[in-house]
Amino acid sequence: MLNSDHGHARKQRFKERLHVLHDNALHRKLRQHLPAAFNERWTRRHWMHATLFATIGALVATIVPGFSSTIDSPFPDAHTSLALPLPPIATSRQQHTPGDSWHVLRVERGQTLSDLFNEAGIPATTMHRVLDFPGARDALVKLRPGTEIAFDMPLSGELRSIRFNRDNENRVELALTGDTIKETVSKRETSTRTVVTSGEITSSLYTAARKAGLSPSAIATMTDEIFKYDIDFSKEVQPGDRFSVVMDETWREGERVDTSNILAATFTSGGKTYSGFRFDRNGKSEYFDADGRPLKKSFIRMPIQFARLSSNFGARKHPVLGKMRMHKGVDYAARTGTPIMAAGDARVQFAGVQRGYGNVVILDHGRGHTTLYGHMSRFAKIKTGQRINQGTVIGYVGSTGLATGPHLHYEFRVNGVHRNPLSVTMPPPEPLKGAELAAFRAQTSPALARIQGMEKMIYADASPASKPREVASAAPRSNGNKRG
Ligand SMILES: [Zn+2]
Repeated sequence: MLNSDHGHARKQRFKERLHVLHDNALHRKLRQHLPAAFNERWTRRHWMHATLFATIGALVATIVPGFSSTIDSPFPDAHTSLALPLPPIATSRQQHTPGDSWHVLRVERGQTLSDLFNEAGIPATTMHRVLDFPGARDALVKLRPGTEIAFDMPLSGELRSIRFNRDNENRVELALTGDTIKETVSKRETSTRTVVTSGEITSSLYTAARKAGLSPSAIATMTDEIFKYDIDFSKEVQPGDRFSVVMDETWREGERVDTSNILAATFTSGGKTYSGFRFDRNGKSEYFDADGRPLKKSFIRMPIQFARLSSNFGARKHPVLGKMRMHKGVDYAARTGTPIMAAGDARVQFAGVQRGYGNVVILDHGRGHTTLYGHMSRFAKIKTGQRINQGTVIGYVGSTGLATGPHLHYEFRVNGVHRNPLSVTMPPPEPLKGAELAAFRAQTSPALARIQGMEKMIYADASPASKPREVASAAPRSNGNKRG
């Protein structure tokens, strides 16, 4: 239903770009005269046509030489400039065509539905008829400021149809004829486009990122998923640091509704540039550096936040048994109920009760690595055999088993041997290889080029993020693992 409206709006835009259209028409003409199969040599006839059209406009003359390599290449370019996936224009901003009887109102703060009907000059009895239609009341009474509602009002002044959005996906049109109301539901159109944006921090990263168009969830992806292993956002970010992001924007009727999907990002802090690229491996999206190494470390050093190391690894007098014993892990004192996270991607090997350990979870991380978490007050929703991701909450701090107070007892084993989780060398995560690496490179280089292009444009005087690969390959900063 709105398609024709959108089509109209788009046509308007086309008119504004008449010169482009004009060029395009010339291309079409040229194309008619140049057979599609033609891709190598110019015949006398082709030359004649080319000469003929060259007299029409200078631009065509610049395009013709391009034909010598491949005939189709100039056309997609010309089309791209027209077919930019522009967000649909909101209905209120569209121009009314003669005879258009749709009256679009935008809900303002504090406005009630009665106010809107009043403004449109529709009697309250009609409003109640509409509200009595099944499903209409729910959608209409919770209209938020900024949303639009449209009335189809012919010259007679009687409401013929009303149009509103039932939810994010559906648009409803109710047609009033005599005593009956007919409902038509249509899908609200959304479109996605990939954009590149950049920001420089002046006060806070959050402010700069919001200014650059990132949604709060996109900011969280940047800080908690992509760069958290390299940058301590609570301390290290300073004015002058900058970021660039390639992301998907989802638009619905002229409004940007989602930007949570970050495809690539760079962050330049203290003269160093870090980069992250999203890539699907084994059906799972992960972020990698420019060389195809996962940004995520295979293990987080400390599987619990807001905790104090209360007992280290090694020989000690057991607090309950009172005799010297080897402490085969580390203890973190924390309040009962503090969440405990899986230190790495794993398969749940055991979740149950064991003497001494109380409620305990053992995770198998593959390559001979297992971790153990004891004295839990309760388990999270996990099952033996289940695959879980790093950071998944597996249970909560408690004092079950042999424990004097609430704490997490954490063990790290390599091929069955207990190691000190605070000092053991964690295995590096598996990098991308072979065909996957090739696919990754093919996907990331255009994204990086876009970021570099944008940074060059914005930060002409500053040094651009030109060598993220080399920097990203460098060892993480010493304070990268502060949490351990
Ligand atoms: Zn312990």
